[in-house]
Amino acid sequence: MNIPLSSYPRIVIIGGGFGGVSLAKKLSKKEVQVVLLDKNNYHTFQPLLYQVSTGGLEPGSIAYPLRKVLIGYDNFYFRLAEVDNVDPLKKKINTNIGDLSYDYLVVATGSETNFFGNEEIEKNAMSMKSVPQSLNLRSLILENFEQALLTDDYHERDALMNFVIVGGGPTGVELSGALAEIKKGILPKDYPDLDTRRAQINIVQGGDCLLPGFSAQASKKAEDFLEELGVQVWKGVRVTGYNGKTVTTKTDLVFETATVVWAAGVKGAGIKGLDAVDLIAGGNRINVNEFNQVKGHPDIFAIGDIACMVTEDYPRGHPMVAQPAIQQGKLLGENLERLLTQKSMKPFEYIDKGSMATIGRNKAVCDIKGYRFQGVFAWFVWMFVHLFFLIGFRNKMVVFINWVYNYIRFDREARLIIRPFRRDYSQFKD
Ligand SMILES: Cc1cc2nc3c(=O)[nH]c(=O)nc-3n(C[C@H](O)[C@H](O)[C@H](O)COP(=O)(O)OP(=O)(O)OC[C@H]3O[C@@H](n4cnc5c(N)ncnc54)[C@H](O)[C@@H]3O)c2cc1C
Repeated sequence: MNIPLSSYPRIVIIGGGFGGVSLAKKLSKKEVQVVLLDKNNYHTFQPLLYQVSTGGLEPGSIAYPLRKVLIGYDNFYFRLAEVDNVDPLKKKINTNIGDLSYDYLVVATGSETNFFGNEEIEKNAMSMKSVPQSLNLRSLILENFEQALLTDDYHERDALMNFVIVGGGPTGVELSGALAEIKKGILPKDYPDLDTRRAQINIVQGGDCLLPGFSAQASKKAEDFLEELGVQVWKGVRVTGYNGKTVTTKTDLVFETATVVWAAGVKGAGIKGLDAVDLIAGGNRINVNEFNQVKGHPDIFAIGDIACMVTEDYPRGHPMVAQPAIQQGKLLGENLERLLTQKSMKPFEYIDKGSMATIGRNKAVCDIKGYRFQGVFAWFVWMFVHLFFLIGFRNKMVVFINWVYNYIRFDREARLIIRPFRRDYSQFKD
C-alpha cells in the first residue's frame, strides 16, 4: 500500500462514514499515523439518498471526497481499498490492494441491507444504501414511466406505475412521501399523454405503526401526512416474496409491481476475521465494551452501525443512526490518545439528540428531547439539521439552493436517466 513506516503508532480506520470521519478529524493533531481505508473515495450522506433516488438532488451534493476531508492533516493517508479480512493475531488486514499491519484498528464499516435470508427478494428488489443504488432506483422509476407510455395493456401499465416500499421506518416514509409529491407535481406535466393518476405508492409495514421508535404522536402524524399525499399505508402486513412481478405477503394482499424498494432492515457490514460467534451480536453487529473495544481484542475497536454496545438503556445496542457513530468516533479519538499516554479511557455515553423524518413539503415530524412537533416548523428544523451535518460548504450551498428552487418551482430537476438500469420488462407482457 506504500504507507511509510513511522515512529508514531499506526491507527487504521476501515470506513469513511459518519463514525470513521469524526474519528479521523479528532485524530488530526495527534502524534499518530492514521490510515483511512474505504471502498469508495467519498463519504456518503445517507439520510439524503432518497432525494437522489427521486431526482431532488444530484449525487455530487450528498457525497464528499474523503481525500478532501484529510487535507492539511499531518501523517494521514487515504487508500481506496476494500478490506476482506482481519488477522488479529498478526495485527494485519488483507485488502484488495494488499496487506497492512496496524497498532490499533478501528472498524467503522457501517451496515448493509438486511433481506433476512430471502434470496428472491434480494435478487429482485431495489435497495437504497449507497449512491449507485440510489441512481439505479432513480433510473428505474423514470424508465417505468417511459415504458408505461409504450403499452396499451392497462394491467401492465398499472404494474409499471405501482411502487411498493417495504418498511415503515424513516427511509420508507421519506421515500414514499417524495414519490407521492412527484406523482402530484411532476408526472402530470412530464407525461401529459399518460394517466398518471393511476400511479400508486404503497408503503408496507410489518409492525402495527409507522416510524417505530418515534413517539406515538409522530407516528400517527406521519401516517396522516402520507395519506394526505395519497400514499396507501399497509400496516401489520409482512412481505414474504417478490419474483420481479408479484409481491406476496403473509395476508391475502398481493401487489403487481415493477418496483419494490426494500427498506425493511439493515445489518452490520461485518468483516472476516472478526466474525467469530462470540464476537457477533444480533443484526450481525460486533460486540464492544463501553470503550468500543472488541471483546478479547484490546487493540481493535468498532464504532457506529457495526458496533453493538449493550447498556442498560440500550439492551440491543444503540440505534443504527448517524449520532451514535459521530459521538463514538469523537470519543474514541480522545480515548486512543489517552490509551497512548497510559491514561484510563472514558466510557461512552450516548446523548440522544432526538429523531426526525420528513414526509414532504411543509410536512415533517420531530421528537427532540421531550418536545414533539410536526408540520411546517418541524420541516424547517429537519432541513436545518440536515444542512448542518452535511459535509462540505459547497454541498451545503448546493443542497440549500436546490431545496429553495424545488420549493418555489414545485420541481425536481435531476430526473435524468444517466446510467440506465437494465430491467427485464418482458415478464409484464403476459
Ligand atoms: C437511506 C438511509 C437514510 C438514513 N437516514 C438517516 C437519518 O435521517 N438520520 C440518521 O441519523 N441516520 C440515518 N441513516 C443511518 C445512518 O446513515 C447510519 O447510521 C450511519 O451512516 C452510520 O455511520 P457509520 O459510520 O457507522 O457507517 P457508514 O456511514 O455507513 O459508513 C461506512 C463506510 O464504510 C465503508 N465500508 C464498508 N465496508 C467496507 C470494507 N469492507 N472495506 C472498506 N470500506 C468499507 C463504506 O463504503 C462506508 O463509507 C440512514 C441510512 C440510510 C441508508
